[in-house]
Amino acid sequence: MDFRCIECGFHIRSKKSLYVQYSPGNIRLMKCESCRAVADEYIECEIMILLIDLILHKPKAYRHLLYNKLDQQALFWKAGISFLVLDAYRLLILSGREEGVSDMWISFPSLTYPKMLMNLIFGNIAFLVTVLLWTRSLLKDLNTFLRCEHILLAIFLSSYFKIFLIAMMVWEFPLSVLLIIDLFVLSSNTVAFKVMTELPLDKCIMVCFSAHAIKFFVGWLI
Ligand SMILES: [Zn+2]
Repeated sequence: MDFRCIECGFHIRSKKSLYVQYSPGNIRLMKCESCRAVADEYIECEIMILLIDLILHKPKAYRHLLYNKLDQQALFWKAGISFLVLDAYRLLILSGREEGVSDMWISFPSLTYPKMLMNLIFGNIAFLVTVLLWTRSLLKDLNTFLRCEHILLAIFLSSYFKIFLIAMMVWEFPLSVLLIIDLFVLSSNTVAFKVMTELPLDKCIMVCFSAHAIKFFVGWLI
């Protein structure tokens, strides 16, 4: 694993773990060599604390999740497929509302399938290519330790808020809830992109906003 200090993002080399275990339940957390803070305090925290901090967009929670918690290589395809499935579901809700059909599952195959599929494929290709092109142009040392798939994985995982779309299957929500979820995904993508690249915030906002805007534009064209 490529461990990082969650406070400053310092790369903690030659460590197999971020804590030392003396006996079951008795651990000592490592300190960061750069900022002298505890390298990853979330190791001792409940998962709910991490979830709340992720929702609050705290960069240290994103660093813990993206660098110290998850095996990035094993997760890439699972996260990518989940990202696409949730996006397909979002388009399904949108298509159902556009057609004015209350039961979108009945309307799905005949009315919306081809348009939705094209929207899903071309919208997301445009979105991901935009992120990667910006990343390539903004980062000079991309091949040393930042790889494209790590950035894409961060984008996939930070779109987790789309999971709340599933609640729309059970309860009837106004379409504006979809806009709120989209805005939350945009801001969460921005924090994750900043954590992975350490670029200035304004550049991260520009990258994520332009990628979402191009995806929206492709969907509008289709
Ligand atoms: Zn540090």
